[in-house]
Amino acid sequence: MSDAILVVNAGSSSIKFSVFLDRGEDRAIEHLLSGQLEGVTTEPRFSARDAAGTLIAEQRWTQPLGHDGAIEHMDGFLREPLSVHRLAAVGHRVVHGGLAFSAPVRPTPAIVEQLEQLIPLAPLHQPHNLALIKTLLANHPTLPQVACFDTAFHRGQAEVAQAFALPLVITERGVRRYGFHGLSYEYVARVLPDYDARAAQGRTVVLHLGNGSSACAIADGRSVASTMGFTAVDGLPMGTRCGNLDPGVLLYLMDEMKMDACAIEKLIYKESGLLGVSGVSSDMRTLLESAEPRAQFAIELFVYRIARELGSLAAALGGLDALIFTAGIGENSAPIRERVCLAAAWLGVTLDPAANNAARGAARISTADSQTAAWVIPTNEELMIARDTRNLLGRIP
Ligand code: AMP
Repeated sequence: MSDAILVVNAGSSSIKFSVFLDRGEDRAIEHLLSGQLEGVTTEPRFSARDAAGTLIAEQRWTQPLGHDGAIEHMDGFLREPLSVHRLAAVGHRVVHGGLAFSAPVRPTPAIVEQLEQLIPLAPLHQPHNLALIKTLLANHPTLPQVACFDTAFHRGQAEVAQAFALPLVITERGVRRYGFHGLSYEYVARVLPDYDARAAQGRTVVLHLGNGSSACAIADGRSVASTMGFTAVDGLPMGTRCGNLDPGVLLYLMDEMKMDACAIEKLIYKESGLLGVSGVSSDMRTLLESAEPRAQFAIELFVYRIARELGSLAAALGGLDALIFTAGIGENSAPIRERVCLAAAWLGVTLDPAANNAARGAARISTADSQTAAWVIPTNEELMIARDTRNLLGRIP
């Protein structure tokens, strides 16, 4: 029997979870299984896979389960795999830690209340993240829980990197750049010394390119600047999010097109990005295979915006030692990596096309004499949460 750590990421329409076994020694955390319940408020779909990726459970419903029903199903499914282990702790991904939380924390009712104040800053995720913590606090008060924040990694950024050029009274209400995808960046920063010691101590830009995309400048393992700001809609164009936008566009949408906040939120979060520009799909694989000129233009815009932001982040770092690709597109799409690296040639990146095409898992994709290294390093936010959970709890009681 081992101690099991359950890692949960409760979103607006999905619940994702992973179980890790804590073998008790440093880094010896073993992945047991992962599962997800998507479309919880529409037509739910459940699937779970073991550590090798083999499908071990699947189910579909025609009626919504709601979040409570989804949690009940997850609970029921986990009973069997956890029967031979001891559920020792639950680690949660919490999207927003505000200014107060720059490290993982054991949530108490008072801390949950503090985190609830941040719901207006992340209305799509924060309430669901916190609801599960509250349920477990009420029903299993002795079960250790740890909240890990997507904003925490960025909290050490200089004030100038966090500020908008707005009056102080607005900044003091918390309107500032927080940055997200922090668990992904922290994971990559922690494993980087295993691959590239020079980059780990130097100046790196990590490109987290997935359905949500952002980029982060990291110096000596610490976040210096990031493309996401007050919300996760800022920065790069994403699957359905627009990325950075002249604020004047929002005024135009309100004044001239009579759109209210709700309509604008839908537009910039759900209908823009790769989907909006292409009119074809939010999925990069579909776009790469499409002959539609708009699909190709959406890819061109995606790469162009990455290249522009890369220049900005390299400026924040005062140079660049390494460029790292991670997440769904970054880890799997050689053509996108190639186009980004070609656009980054002026920063000293020389791509090795054969290494890029052959890359599976972690791999160096720049030539041996490239002045700036380019890497693919797969991210693992769930493992990051499991490690943080174990580290915070020490030897789990
Ligand atoms: P994520 O949000 O990290 O799961 O990433 C999802 C994105 O990765 C989607 O746009 C997928 O189309 C994209 N993706 C996954 N595999 C590939 C691939 N082999 N080539 C291009 N894009 C991919």
